[in-house]
Amino acid sequence: MENKIQLFNTLTRKTEKFIPNEDGKVAMYTCGPTVYHFAHIGNLRSYIMEDVLEKTLRYAGYDVKRVMNITDVGHLSSDADTGEDKMLKGAKREHKTVMEIAKFYTDAFKTDCEKLNIKWPDVVEPATNCISEFIHMIEVLLEKGYAYKAGENIYFDTSKLKEYYVFGNQSEEELLVGVRDDVEEDTNKRNKNDFVLWFTKSKFEDQALKWDSPWGVGYPGWHIECSCISMKHLGEYMDIHCGGIDNMFPHHTNEIAQSESYLGHKWVNYWFHVHHLNDRNGKMSKSKGDILTVSTLEGKGIDPMIYRLFCLQSHYRKPLEFSYDVLDNVKNGYDKLIKKIDSLKTEAGLDHKALSELSLKIEKARKTAERYSKDMNESIAKAVKGTEVDATAYIDFSDKFLAAVGNDINTSSGITVVYDVLGSNLNAVTKLVLIDAFDQVLSLNLTVDRPEPKAAVDPELEAFVLSKIEERKEAKKNKDFAKADAIREELLNKGVAIKDTREGTVWELV
Ligand code: AMP
Ligand code: ZN
Repeated sequence: MENKIQLFNTLTRKTEKFIPNEDGKVAMYTCGPTVYHFAHIGNLRSYIMEDVLEKTLRYAGYDVKRVMNITDVGHLSSDADTGEDKMLKGAKREHKTVMEIAKFYTDAFKTDCEKLNIKWPDVVEPATNCISEFIHMIEVLLEKGYAYKAGENIYFDTSKLKEYYVFGNQSEEELLVGVRDDVEEDTNKRNKNDFVLWFTKSKFEDQALKWDSPWGVGYPGWHIECSCISMKHLGEYMDIHCGGIDNMFPHHTNEIAQSESYLGHKWVNYWFHVHHLNDRNGKMSKSKGDILTVSTLEGKGIDPMIYRLFCLQSHYRKPLEFSYDVLDNVKNGYDKLIKKIDSLKTEAGLDHKALSELSLKIEKARKTAERYSKDMNESIAKAVKGTEVDATAYIDFSDKFLAAVGNDINTSSGITVVYDVLGSNLNAVTKLVLIDAFDQVLSLNLTVDRPEPKAAVDPELEAFVLSKIEERKEAKKNKDFAKADAIREELLNKGVAIKDTREGTVWELV
């Protein structure tokens, strides 16, 4: 198939044409969350943008297999080999076991992903499932002379590599994002960049999760999990590896060091790094404690879709500054956009279900034509036969959309194409199927059916009803049921029905 996507590759620091190892197929890996706390909206920025990357690839006709780990062991506070074990810290904070914490926050992460329309990856694997794979890789690294035992731990020996700083010319200070000031020197290390593959001598006496290994009872270092989990499911060659920019060093640098030493060849072709969401104090991070979550936003009446749109309006390779004022503006724009699309649906007489069925049929034809380099005009003309959809315009706008988002995941340009479609002189059905198809990538709920907005309630009536409900409650308390019934009747005569529920008395206009 024709490769139409360009990606900025952190490895080469260039925007390159994306060419997968296997024609039409993409092997993609995402560093998953460390499940000791809720994901904050900064973490979720990374997952939103990685989701758009996956969906853009699918839109372009690729079969994508995406794998993600869940870090439930081994990630220390410093991202290197010092500081507290994050999972243990979470368990102590909540007086629970590490596995209880892991389950709770994995479920919470999944719920957040659902709310933000982030597709759950094809394979999601917790690190604690793969201990034998980790041990195997470490054994091979020892055999090949890339690892050594010291002070009862197993370390990777970075002096054996031709090049360690594969992500290039940044200074080490710049790369060390989020490392704490109180880093202790590990005297077992032969070189300062060496890192732990397996801990047997845990400095946490109460380390909860430990396994037998050829080197004694212990637990894995953090970096080894992504190398092993990705190879388990994607094999020895990977197309795209993703993560937030802070993962570049030391995490991804160490992943490459151990994977390529183990494999004896290049491992990943494209590295995709999402820049940070910042608040006024800098990078948003779980360890700072006071974090913004999807629930925080919902508690303030903000639909998670507004946050997704906020992320999509800026480029993933630029830092993004969070502010409620900007979210307010995004909401205004979103509401107007939805209103336009809703009026088109009324004009075309199509609800979400009918629209999706039609758009799915056309998209299937378009993607198959992309994937197998078939004649696009012929394929789309066949798919739209008997409908009002303008085939030529459909192809034209689909190409524009793919050129926009396919240009290093330029989501804001993709959104501009949505507005171009709305502003064009195409018929309503053509506009709608195009927008529905684009929304398979943007995932902003652009075409879903929404309940009719409720008519605003007269505040005077509301105050009157609430005072009557209070009066009735008092009457019931005094066992004056005749009065309570009379109040119910009085309200009904004014067109208000009341109902007693476990949460109290509720009312509605009838
Ligand atoms: P963690 O749960 O800490 O392992 O992080 C999960 C993902 O979120 C990783 O890909 C991080 O690089 C990413 N991440 C962490 N903080 C931020 C932030 N403020 N903005 C964007 N991504 C972040
Ligand atoms: Zn990772």
